[in-house]
Amino acid sequence: MADQKRLGVLGGGQLGKMLALAAADWHWPIHILDQSADFPAAPYATHFRKGNFKNFDDVYQFGKTVDVLTIEIEHVNTEALHQLQKEGLTIHPGPAQLDIIKDKGLQKEFYQKHTIPTAPFQLFADENALRIALRKGALKFPFVQKSRTAGYDGRGVAVIHKQDDLDKLIPGACLTEELVPFTKELSVIVARNEQGEIATYPLVEMEFNPEANLVELLLCPAQVSEEMVQKAEKIARNVIEAFDICGMLAVELFLNQDGEILVNEVAPRTHNSGHHTIESCFTSQFQQHLRAVLNFPLGSTRLKNPAVMLNLLGAEGHTGPAYYEGMEKCLAMEGVNIHLYGKQITKPFRKMGHVTIVGDSLTEARQKAEKVKSLLRVISQS
Ligand code: ADP
Repeated sequence: MADQKRLGVLGGGQLGKMLALAAADWHWPIHILDQSADFPAAPYATHFRKGNFKNFDDVYQFGKTVDVLTIEIEHVNTEALHQLQKEGLTIHPGPAQLDIIKDKGLQKEFYQKHTIPTAPFQLFADENALRIALRKGALKFPFVQKSRTAGYDGRGVAVIHKQDDLDKLIPGACLTEELVPFTKELSVIVARNEQGEIATYPLVEMEFNPEANLVELLLCPAQVSEEMVQKAEKIARNVIEAFDICGMLAVELFLNQDGEILVNEVAPRTHNSGHHTIESCFTSQFQQHLRAVLNFPLGSTRLKNPAVMLNLLGAEGHTGPAYYEGMEKCLAMEGVNIHLYGKQITKPFRKMGHVTIVGDSLTEARQKAEKVKSLLRVISQS
């Protein structure tokens, strides 16, 4: 085994926590930077450092204490990463890639340049420029407006069908996309190491909570034809190669009625749509990310069992210290794997954990997932 390079991670949320747990399997040193030792990853990091991953000095000083640097969130200070890279630090994904992905406008231009299929779009300096384009007929209803830089978990997205919806417009630099009449939202997570070895995971299908615009249920394998699976995997490979990324990349896709697949957006890190891999695949996305950024051979992505992943979102009307109602009943069910992130305060629709249900068939796993959904609730302690 090679020397244990110290791995640094920007961000100490649930993704950092699950990465630290994977690193523990190899007893690998993992250093995590985030603002509070109360955050999910802190107790599982071999070294936790308090600091802000958006602050130049905090990121730069942290980078000086590790051998390889990665992220669990893309909204980090990339100026510090450019400086660290110039000084010889290995950073995956690289700052140049992060600069493109962090800005949805640059991301869309990147797809266009690399002939990666994506919905037609237009860029606007702000929402007023967008209104002017509408008045002039250069933009037509319906469309989807996205903030170029402020988006996360659906918060920077507005679906505009008609004039009355315009008060939902998000201020600031933005883009508009044609409203895609998709039949399914899919995701492929894909890994690549420095050797250029690539491994794609089985295609997943996502079901959204319409109110929160957050993924509620995820099914693996996706219920689509083998032809669509091949097509989606090919796109994911092309995207990770075009970006020249090492590590995990989540490629979110729209599938249309006529079998067309479009890239919605990517995340250059481990991703919610890969959580099920912990129990359902030969290699979890977290171990795969470690393999990729530390330049080890990639692990098998084969599916052991069909799986359904359920995001545990904070219940509506509950804000305060979290309490997990119904947990014991769920623990008594076969194939139900509960992951709690340890966030102290629950809020409506906050991601507090997830549950992966594995079964002999997707139908069986799905039935159990519905039961878990009705039993398990994150509420505030009264
Ligand atoms: P975020 O970065 O916040 O996750 P996304 O760009 O993924 O935002 O958009 C969130 C959701 O909004 C998507 O998963 C999809 O349901 C819907 N959406 C986004 N873009 C479009 C589009 N062009 N047409 C139709 N629906 C869209």
